[in-house]
Amino acid sequence: MDITVIGAGYVGLTTGVAFAELGNNVRFIDIDEEKINKIKEGVAPIYEEGLQEMMERNMSRIKAASSYNEIDGVVFICVGTPSLQDGSINLEYAKEAVENAAKNMEEGLIVIKSTVFPGTTEKILLPIVEKYSKKISIAMNPEFLREGKALHDFLHPDRIVIGIRDEKGERLLKELYKPIDAPVLVTNPTVAELIKYASNAFLATKITFANEIGNLAKLLGIDVYEVMKGVAMDHRISPYFLNAGVGFGGSCFPKDLKALRAGAKKLGYDMLLVDAVLKINDEQPLRVIKLLEKYMDVRNKTIAILGLAFKANTDDIRESRAIPVIRELLKKGAKIKAYDPMAMENMKRVFPSIEYCDSIDKALDSADACLILTDWKEFENIDFQKMRKKIVIEGRRILKNKEGIIYEGICW
Ligand code: NAD
Repeated sequence: MDITVIGAGYVGLTTGVAFAELGNNVRFIDIDEEKINKIKEGVAPIYEEGLQEMMERNMSRIKAASSYNEIDGVVFICVGTPSLQDGSINLEYAKEAVENAAKNMEEGLIVIKSTVFPGTTEKILLPIVEKYSKKISIAMNPEFLREGKALHDFLHPDRIVIGIRDEKGERLLKELYKPIDAPVLVTNPTVAELIKYASNAFLATKITFANEIGNLAKLLGIDVYEVMKGVAMDHRISPYFLNAGVGFGGSCFPKDLKALRAGAKKLGYDMLLVDAVLKINDEQPLRVIKLLEKYMDVRNKTIAILGLAFKANTDDIRESRAIPVIRELLKKGAKIKAYDPMAMENMKRVFPSIEYCDSIDKALDSADACLILTDWKEFENIDFQKMRKKIVIEGRRILKNKEGIIYEGICW
């Protein structure tokens, strides 16, 4: 089948490259010329496990352009829907992408993959499409991939949700997803939109619940991971998303929960649970600084930060918990030496003037303390000998060897 993917970010690239791997012809459209040029050269503009290799394998079926002149087949809208000041989402990119696609099509199917508030597809995007043609159908097909495992998750999802209004569109999408072995839930676009938000809100709540129990465990002097091991043995709960730490970040959970809260408020409902989750998550990263301050006044001290990405195996720093930690330390007069295997270039845009080190050793050299904020595997075994004071505070549970250091875990 022919496919056009509009927005070649984490979701768009994954969607397009995976569909190419399944034998489809894929055209990427993005307003970012640099991204498009990289794709044309067969270079993945972001890091995702296996993406570069899969792209190279399928370049004969992949095209890329920064203009909307040619639209082929089924169109997937994968542009960003970032937060506005009040927490609701900025729909301008999605509206623009849908309008530009519809302008250049006579009939066919536009599939919204971007995360949008319930009602958006039918009440806001469909009327834009219908200005140009009544023969174009619209679908909402939320994406549940995890960054870092995006290709795997796209090709092996727990479920495929298709929010659709007509049988022809449903047939087309089912055909496209046929090679993927997963249950397909067909529903209407508004239900599909809320399935996405409810799933993310539930996962974020699970993490936050573990953090809250973890904060209590810390006060009790016990290890929350032992507690959660026992909790997770209950099959109604399951062990996933119960790893306590500095809180959730990334481009989705914080943004989606804020959008849910803001959207519900406009409808006259205060989402108290979602609100509490966001508040706890805002405070959680600062707890590592409170722990550090048990040992020192951070003013004029050199603090090594290990881990800048919002989680391991990605270069994405959006809403990374390292951001509030670094900001607060700078405010308190500390000097930062940072290291991350993949995310340093991205973090330089947020904090251009902190020191970035190209190895763990260089970051630790003469540091007064070390904060571990991402669970990169290479942080499992660290030699802390070069530190001035060997104080290590861990916000993720990754470190194996704690000999010869003064150690604190955030919730253990
Ligand atoms: P991203 O920021 O990585 O990529 C968005 C891309 O869209 C960018 O390359 C941007 O240049 C491009 N773009 C913006 N406006 C455009 C336009 N008018 N025409 C063409 N291109 C345009 O975003 P992402 O992380 O891939 O997320 C995309 C959507 O998918 C969001 O709604 C997000 O909430 C949702 N989502 C993301 C994830 C994730 O893990 N990243 C998972 C599930 C769902």
